[in-house]
Amino acid sequence: MQKNDLVTVAIEDIGVGGEGIGKVDGYTLFIKDAIIGDVVEAKIVKAKKNYGYARLMNIVTPSENRVEKPVCPMARRCGGCQIQEMKYGAQLAFKEGKVRGNLERIGEVPTELLDKVMQPIVGMEEPFHYRNKAQFPIGTDKEGHIITGFYAGRTHSIIPNTDCALGVAVNQKILEIILHFMENNHISAYDEEKHKGLVRHVLIRYGFKTDEIMVCLVINGEKLPHAEKLVDKLCKISGMTSITISVNKAKTNVIMGNEIKLLWGQTYITDYIGNVKYQISPLSFYQVNPVQTEKLYGLALDYADLNGNETVWDLYCGIGTISLFLAQNAKQVYGVEIVPQAIDDARNNAKINDITNAEFYVGKAEEVLPEYYREYQESHGGETAHADVIVVDPPRKGCEESLLQTIVDMQPEKVVYVSCDSATLASDVKFLRESGYELKKITPVDQFPNTVHVEVVCCLHRVNS
Ligand code: SAH
Repeated sequence: MQKNDLVTVAIEDIGVGGEGIGKVDGYTLFIKDAIIGDVVEAKIVKAKKNYGYARLMNIVTPSENRVEKPVCPMARRCGGCQIQEMKYGAQLAFKEGKVRGNLERIGEVPTELLDKVMQPIVGMEEPFHYRNKAQFPIGTDKEGHIITGFYAGRTHSIIPNTDCALGVAVNQKILEIILHFMENNHISAYDEEKHKGLVRHVLIRYGFKTDEIMVCLVINGEKLPHAEKLVDKLCKISGMTSITISVNKAKTNVIMGNEIKLLWGQTYITDYIGNVKYQISPLSFYQVNPVQTEKLYGLALDYADLNGNETVWDLYCGIGTISLFLAQNAKQVYGVEIVPQAIDDARNNAKINDITNAEFYVGKAEEVLPEYYREYQESHGGETAHADVIVVDPPRKGCEESLLQTIVDMQPEKVVYVSCDSATLASDVKFLRESGYELKKITPVDQFPNTVHVEVVCCLHRVNS
């Protein structure tokens, strides 16, 4: 098999990145946008010894799981959605299979146990327009027009599109206003390579429960010329609550700058998950799919099964979303998070909700908890610190073993694990199962329809020795 060869191949499997996998004479090919059940013509773009990558050229026979027409015409070129051409039911089956496969292979969880504890994936009724946050890069096309859209997969070239199918409808209106404003007032777009030009990104956030809208322009400078003209247009949009600029003059891939300047309204919007209120500033972390987040945290709360007398730790707590959810049913909640601003947000969110039984610590979970454990022992004559429930929601790399060990040492009755990467979840579950905990329930939740990502929530109970 050589580069530029054209082959016909039946797609039999799906890779972790959502790509179709098929074989030609025993040679494995990975083909983006091809889906299981398709027969496709593909052109080899990279040939290794035992496997290669090919570009989808033509669909000879479409799979029964292929949608007739993708909702977004840019779906294939854009790096945002990897599996939009797959019917939603098939997407859910793929994600469920991925979670189960990781738990079986990496986690060594017996199949019979999984059959018993694994619940069907929680999908969305409407798997589009679910994102409450979007960051649009601003650039210039070949003709010199200001454009915005999304990066093509693995690149930084902008595909013009103001109407992303995952975002809210009002994004388009806001972006059109900004593009016109920039053209009319000769305001330049940032050029990444030359590190010149003013407007880098537009951040838009929308409160699904409150209809409040935030617009933040990230600029390579201190000031946005003629800002009042832009504000004049934007503030007429119903729900507009916050218009700011973020100063980012660094030559970096990081989107937001640290400094936020108010142009109009206030610097934050408010939104709710369940009955807990959150103030969200341009720099705050906040779950992007509020509908599914409520279901995810609902399950976490259900799995924690609190009666009001418990001591609960929420590790990797971010802005305290899960902590505050749990605090309503627990005696005391301790949250731990590495980003100091997130902890400021968490404390503020506790305050505006009149929640007084949640306390937050800044630091690495794998340092804060073991230190707490040691100090407790020292100051309590050798007695060990105990928690009733420990919740973790780590980033993709999962928990460090030293943290898992401290969790086990604290002997909580329940560990509730929220995960955005089922592979690392699986290896952490393996550790916990080998340390006296048993998997009781596990539910995948589709937080990101049309992408390959999947969240999982599970609970493990301490097995009485
Ligand atoms: N549970 C929160 C956030 C989960 S995202 C929510 O739902 O809103 C994971 C969080 O872990 C991020 O906020 C990240 O900043 C934080 N984090 C990453 N590494 C960490 C570490 N070693 N210790 C504590 N927090 C960490």
